[in-house]
Amino acid sequence: MRRSRSFIPTTKEIPSDATLPSHQFLVRGGFINQQGAGLYNFMPLGKIVLEKIRRIVKEELDKAGCNEVQLSFITPLSLWDRSGRADTMGKEMLRIKDRHQNEFVLSPTNEEAMVELVKNRATSYKDLPLNLYQINTKFRDEARPRYGLLRGREFLMKDAYSFHASKEDMVREFDMMESTYKKIFTRLGLDFRVVQADSGAIGGDGSKEFHVLADSGEDTIVVCDSCEYGANIETIFETDEEIDALNEKSYEELQTKKIDEKCSCGGELSFKKGIEVGHIFQLGDTYSSALDAKFNDENGKPKAYEMATFGIGISRLVASVIEQNHDESGCIWTKSTAPYMVNIMISDIKKEAQVELAEELYSKLQDSNVEVILDDRKERFGFKMKDAELIGFPYTVIIGKELANGNVQIFDRKTKEKISVSVDDIYSKMMELI
Ligand SMILES: [Zn+2]
Repeated sequence: MRRSRSFIPTTKEIPSDATLPSHQFLVRGGFINQQGAGLYNFMPLGKIVLEKIRRIVKEELDKAGCNEVQLSFITPLSLWDRSGRADTMGKEMLRIKDRHQNEFVLSPTNEEAMVELVKNRATSYKDLPLNLYQINTKFRDEARPRYGLLRGREFLMKDAYSFHASKEDMVREFDMMESTYKKIFTRLGLDFRVVQADSGAIGGDGSKEFHVLADSGEDTIVVCDSCEYGANIETIFETDEEIDALNEKSYEELQTKKIDEKCSCGGELSFKKGIEVGHIFQLGDTYSSALDAKFNDENGKPKAYEMATFGIGISRLVASVIEQNHDESGCIWTKSTAPYMVNIMISDIKKEAQVELAEELYSKLQDSNVEVILDDRKERFGFKMKDAELIGFPYTVIIGKELANGNVQIFDRKTKEKISVSVDDIYSKMMELI
């Protein structure tokens, strides 16, 4: 992509309601823009990042044997009446009427629709297990949408639903999906913890959350310094008092607070702030029983499916990457989420030698399937550098004054270090770095 042909409207203006780094930098970097309360458009750079995350999630789920489907975003209210959730979902579920006064819902989640899809189609134990997923728009009418993509009303979510002949098989799938999720978040380059969630009515190990660690996170979690252990504070502390007080504390206060108990591995426990990006539940037969969704078991006896459900916030992940990876100048994308890996910057486009070398490197990197953008705009060098730091390309090749001595510079966004490389070595050096 040539920057002169691209639509990347960066700005110095910070939206008045943007308190979090991801909200500020994604808007300022020209990734997203707000269309209405809790409603965001993804502009070209934002769309590239969203698609990269979606692709990694899809690849790992397909490898795990899940089937991708796409359900209608609008669902009849009658479905929600049958499961009983028309009454319990409250105002977060937005209802609409068509011209015939039939009532519909903008889907906030899709358990009911997915059960209806499988019911009467997977009729024997031989048709099970099944795991179906979609990466689709969801709508929840939040009372106070805020924090940009982290607490929007319309969002992109991966939701998967599995159907089983027995509880044992459902638990096997639950454990398998936990390791699939770990692969996904590792590939995205994120520092995350699996957290034992408040089990509530589900009980036991029936629910786990995946949190990206970030100082600005909304949730307070307890983590061990020597093993993988993580827990939601609801599972450790007894009283709603205690819990509200902890949730209200900021990251700095929390760091001084000591936990007397030790982890079962002997390690020290401490508080961290996290952003919930994934949640997996063992549902049992709650929905299948309510919707009379049954299969015939080995003895030909009708039985309700055992179910589990698995969510990942795809658009929420775009913001989470930046909450975890940013500095005062802007975004620092991980290698697997960066909109472009290499930004080639021509310092002065009036200098023919600079343009010639930039064009040559641009073609060579493109031919090697490197995601590369060429900053060929008629702008000052300082302006273009600030822009590159705000957007957060992992590497910028600066073709400038040093070219007279046969050198160019590589700027590393994460460390902000510049190294000089000879013109002859620049292609191989870039291929080595990425
Ligand atoms: Zn431990």
